[in-house]
Amino acid sequence: MANDPISFFEQVNRNFDRAAALTNHHPGLLAIIKNCNSVYHFTFPLERDNGEVEVIHAWRAEHSHHKLPTKGGIRYSLGVNEDEVMALAALMTYKCAVVDVPFGGAKGGIRIDSRTYSKDELERLTRRYCFELVKKNFIGPGIDVPAPDFGTGPREMAWIVDTFTALAPDKLEGTACVTGKPIAQGGIRGRAEATGRGVAIVTCEACNVAEDMKALGLTPGLAGKRVIVQGLGNVGHNTAKFLVEQGAVLVGLVEYEGAIYNPKGLDYEKVWAHRLETKSLLDFPGAANIANRLEGLEQECDILVPAALENQITAENAPRIKARMIVEGANGPVTSEASETLAERGVLIIPDHYANAGGVLVSYFEWLKNLSHVRFGRMEKRFEEQAYRRILKTVERKTQRAFSEQEIADAAQGADELDLVNSGLEDTMVTAYHRLREIRNQHDGKADLRTAAFVDAIDKIAVCYQDLGIFP
Ligand code: NAD
Repeated sequence: MANDPISFFEQVNRNFDRAAALTNHHPGLLAIIKNCNSVYHFTFPLERDNGEVEVIHAWRAEHSHHKLPTKGGIRYSLGVNEDEVMALAALMTYKCAVVDVPFGGAKGGIRIDSRTYSKDELERLTRRYCFELVKKNFIGPGIDVPAPDFGTGPREMAWIVDTFTALAPDKLEGTACVTGKPIAQGGIRGRAEATGRGVAIVTCEACNVAEDMKALGLTPGLAGKRVIVQGLGNVGHNTAKFLVEQGAVLVGLVEYEGAIYNPKGLDYEKVWAHRLETKSLLDFPGAANIANRLEGLEQECDILVPAALENQITAENAPRIKARMIVEGANGPVTSEASETLAERGVLIIPDHYANAGGVLVSYFEWLKNLSHVRFGRMEKRFEEQAYRRILKTVERKTQRAFSEQEIADAAQGADELDLVNSGLEDTMVTAYHRLREIRNQHDGKADLRTAAFVDAIDKIAVCYQDLGIFP
């Protein structure tokens, strides 16, 4: 695949510069924001199951300490390098600012193809990775809090929390050292699907703005919109599921092994079951196979959701993309050059550091839960239910009409943890979308949504650095 000639971190910075030019901040202050504060590259040995020893390369980057802890996922991929973790850490800083999560940005990674390691090997290297971070003070509830990313999930987070708390057993808030954990290890309901749910909320909200849809030549509303999703991991799988639930028509899916396309729509649950059974998307009944996976992105659709990796839509393939809207489920899937090409064609891009922020937002809720040691909704759920019942009783008395048991049960529900998490997620994503549109519109054609999201983040971080001053 032809990558654009500049690195991922340079691309993020190019987008930053474009937005910074629309602000009035001092160049010195902008330089402080843009720079990556710390990068730790380390190696350690792993004994493979067959007795061979391998040297593992790992990184953790903390981009900005204007708010602590820093926060960002851990990625297991052969593409991990210093530039990538710095770029992803920077995106985390801007992402947290856009959705008002009070953290700085960070990212970590181990350069491996996780599919070629056994579960025991992955456990050994995850625990060692955590141990190395502890040694250098690069992890902790108030320091730097990792989460899942490409190639990692709740299982790896459980190994990390276990290793961290074994090394610091007296730390009362130790479980807050990492988020995205299994529920039994201090995780929060709704975190696993939060990023995909957030991407779907954002897509739906964008489709509801009639003025923007008109400019794209589309009718308002998500119902009936044709969607292609790339990557069926944590983000892509949940995005596809929620978009279908809300009435979108899934016409294409793209994975490692190739892509499938059916203009009449794919039954996502059946495709998922087919892939579990055959280990491949290909040969799904009724759909056309596309052997070159990148060509899957170029098929007819209204909305494209790249949710696999960075650099998927470049200057080379951008002219062949037919979607009118691209929602960046992955971090950095559209290069800055490709963004320009697509903008010239009027394609609406909903940028990564807003679109996929649902994950870090719910991670923030998990962190709060861990610090308070109590499940959200535990104390008020029953109280709320009883209050609603009292209101319904009053209405019955006043109207002399009785509600049915079912009506009472439906109306008198207190919020549990999942309700509260999903409510906080939806409210934040929807509110932020309208703020970004407003910033874009204020800049009279000089800003797209990506630039607007950078302007929003830069303004918020700048105030923070100005208030803090420079130490010493
Ligand atoms: P994942 O490992 O769960 O899934 C990635 C999926 O992409 C896998 O199914 C893999 O087979 C597929 N894939 C890999 N390379 C591909 C290619 N070239 N073409 C098509 N498919 C390919 O990872 P994830 O957590 O879903 O992360 C995906 C992206 O979303 C990454 O950019 C990540 O940084 C970003 N992201 C993740 C989260 C999160 O909460 N997990 C939050 C925000 C952003």
